Amino acid sequence: MVVVDPACSRTDSCEQWFQPVRKTAAAGAARWITVVALLSTVAVSSRAQADLTPPGQPRTPRWVGHFTVFAANGLVGGLTAGIVQELRGGSFQDGFSRGFLGGALIYLGKRVTVGKWAGAGFAGREVAAIGTSVVRNASAAEPSLARIDLPLGPLPARLGITVDDSRDLRLRLDIVSAAWLLYGLLEPRFELDVGEALSSGVPVFRAVGGSVLERGQPALGVAVARNIFLSDPTASGGPVGTTPDPALRQTLHHERVHVLQQDFFLAAWSEPLTNAVFQRVAPGRWVPAHLAVDGLWWVMPSLRRWIYSPQDAYRFPTELEADFLAR
Ligand SMILES: [Zn+2]
Repeated sequence: MVVVDPACSRTDSCEQWFQPVRKTAAAGAARWITVVALLSTVAVSSRAQADLTPPGQPRTPRWVGHFTVFAANGLVGGLTAGIVQELRGGSFQDGFSRGFLGGALIYLGKRVTVGKWAGAGFAGREVAAIGTSVVRNASAAEPSLARIDLPLGPLPARLGITVDDSRDLRLRLDIVSAAWLLYGLLEPRFELDVGEALSSGVPVFRAVGGSVLERGQPALGVAVARNIFLSDPTASGGPVGTTPDPALRQTLHHERVHVLQQDFFLAAWSEPLTNAVFQRVAPGRWVPAHLAVDGLWWVMPSLRRWIYSPQDAYRFPTELEADFLAR
């Protein structure tokens, strides 16, 4: 089966997507990275579970939690790139080892994005985007930095930079994110916090005199398709009426982590799969060249809803990670 990557704009480089990975000295290093990554992940996973549990339960040291989040990000990046490259006729090992390194960069981005300094959210999002690009390139058996895809901060657009002789720059509209941004701008119950949006690198809306709802329940905040909606701390009747500032700041950091998770899901899974479907229905290059279509943005929230009741939703892995890092 020939798999066509629609994001690839030139015939000569498109062919590279289907070439088996060349066996080089790097293959030996890749094997070792794979083994070390798997062993370290298994070694800490049991202890670390305890640190990612909700407050009130026994905890292991914080560094163990960080190591778990690091290993989990590496594992998700590694498995994504390993499986996709294998399906494309390449090497699982090459994909896994380079994907693991991409996942490690994503972890670094998440550490940065919860920083308390102005611009931390923006900077962390870009660092994580470079890690996500490494995963995507490893999935395609291309050089790790062949193509870098960066979100343009709070704007619903992504800049694709091809790092070869062509130096191709391509701006794509993140259409699902743009739709939610438009909703926030047009809905009178929300106000765009421009300063916080610039600092966070993502649109941040504040509810005016009310709370945002998640599964019908008032919540402090929610991140939807790379837009953050926060409740009004002065609203009465909701959970935020007496919420102190530090808790709201923690909520903002929690949602920033969700945005980075959504960036990864968009670039590594949703956009490539959506493009593949588009190519079957309406072959052509216009859509993948100009739009980043997050056709599967609803998958993760739906999974969480199907698997867990509202009381247990915090157990979903993306929630555990966001809670831990924002703490
Ligand atoms: Zn959450």
